[in-house]
Amino acid sequence: MALGRAVLNRPASIVCGEAELLIIFDLDGTLVIGPPGRIANTAEEQSFLPGVLDACEHYRGRGDTLAIASNQGGVALGYLTLSDAHRRVEQAALTIGADHFRFCPFHPEGTIPEFAKDADCRKPKPGMLYELMGEVGASSEDTLFVGDSPEDEEAAEAAGVSFEWRDDFFETWA
Ligand SMILES: [Mg+2]
Repeated sequence: MALGRAVLNRPASIVCGEAELLIIFDLDGTLVIGPPGRIANTAEEQSFLPGVLDACEHYRGRGDTLAIASNQGGVALGYLTLSDAHRRVEQAALTIGADHFRFCPFHPEGTIPEFAKDADCRKPKPGMLYELMGEVGASSEDTLFVGDSPEDEEAAEAAGVSFEWRDDFFETWA
C-alpha cells in the first residue's frame, strides 16, 4: 500500500505535472461487484463500486494509462461463456476509459475441457501484467497494480510492480 502510494506521489509527477503511470486494475471486487452473493456473469450484472469512476477519470485526466487484468475462471467452470467474459471485461474497460485489458478464462479445476488448465495468465502468476506492460511500453517501476485479493498482491510481486489494495486506492473517492 505504502509503496503504491509512493509511486503515485513520486516527485517527477509533481514537478512535471504528468504522471504517466500504467495503473492496472483487477475487475471483480476491485472495480465492480455482481448480484448479492456472487460474481457477475454478464456485463449487465456488474455494478461499479462507489468512487471508481471518479477516481479513474482523475487518473486518466493526469495522463495515466489505465488497464484491467481479470481472472475469469468462471469460463472454465462453466458459469459464463468466453464471449460473456470478454463482454464483461470490455464493458468495464470502456466505462473507466481503459485502453488495454486482459482476462484469463482458464482454471486448473475447470469442467470445460478446453479451459481446464493452469495457465501463465491466471493470477497469482504475472502473465497478464507482463503482457499489459509490454503492450503499453511501461516499465515495472512505472506500473501499479490495484486489487482486492492475495492473488492480486502475489501477481504484482511476481511481476515486480507496486501493489495497492483497492480500498486504499479508492478511499479518497468513495
Ligand atoms: Mg478481485
